[in-house]
Amino acid sequence: MTRLLLLLSLLAPALAHAEIDIFACEPEWAALAEEIGGDLVDAYAATTAFQDPHYIQARPSLIAKVRQADLVICSGAQLEIGWLPALLQKANNPGVMPGSDGYLEASSLVMRLDATGNVDRAQGDIHPLGNPHIQTNPHNVLAVARALAARLSKIDSVNSNTYTKNLELFITEWTAAIERWETQAAPLRGKRIITHHKSWVYLERWLGLEEAANLEAIPGLPPTATHLSRLLERFADGGADVIIRSPYQDARPAEWLADRTGLPAIVLPLTVGGTDAATNLYTWFDDIIKRLLEATGDA
Ligand SMILES: [Zn+2]
Repeated sequence: MTRLLLLLSLLAPALAHAEIDIFACEPEWAALAEEIGGDLVDAYAATTAFQDPHYIQARPSLIAKVRQADLVICSGAQLEIGWLPALLQKANNPGVMPGSDGYLEASSLVMRLDATGNVDRAQGDIHPLGNPHIQTNPHNVLAVARALAARLSKIDSVNSNTYTKNLELFITEWTAAIERWETQAAPLRGKRIITHHKSWVYLERWLGLEEAANLEAIPGLPPTATHLSRLLERFADGGADVIIRSPYQDARPAEWLADRTGLPAIVLPLTVGGTDAATNLYTWFDDIIKRLLEATGDA
């Protein structure tokens, strides 16, 4: 018995190394990697729902994770431009460099909204290549799931049947969930939302919400007093239904405007883990829709 345990403990590290290591810049892609990869992958999220993915430190622990990764998956479109290039360079792992099979840019798989073509970030707009927050439309998640399964099958061809099977199961369940969400969210059509950052444009397009304004005057720069005063003038007598921010964003601008306009101000999880209820990809969208319905009086 003792010998068997010893043998197992010696084998365990070798077995663990058989897993495909996935480095995901954001929690939603780590969650998706687990859906498609199952037990065959070990998915690590570089950020949590309580961190601003635009601004992350390229810590040594993250460099080590990229160095051992078999696949890197990130939203892209410059969302991680402040830290991912530094991680990739320092990790020096050719298998996951942009252009290789081990690098997947999620936003390249969907039609990006709001591309300005303005590459001068000094002007403040941090989304010149289009809005990178593609995860708020579940149809986009589906497109990424397909690409992810194809990449895993390529990197780990021995297990390609399993990845294909996992993908098929995910497509079935996710498509049914999308139908459910679209039915539940029908009363949200035409609701006017004020968002802290341009984080929700894909959700708006999907559910027919209207973006009345942003608390940020320029995407990526903190809301200013001047801009908030203008918003107060504009929305003092209606014109919007709800003010939205993500868990990592400063609550004060939203609450300032809410106090003076009487509009409800709510937190919406921008990714998995952003609220207590948003424990996985499914409950995350459940919670987004539930919170919006409650805030707009349609729950
Ligand atoms: Zn952004």
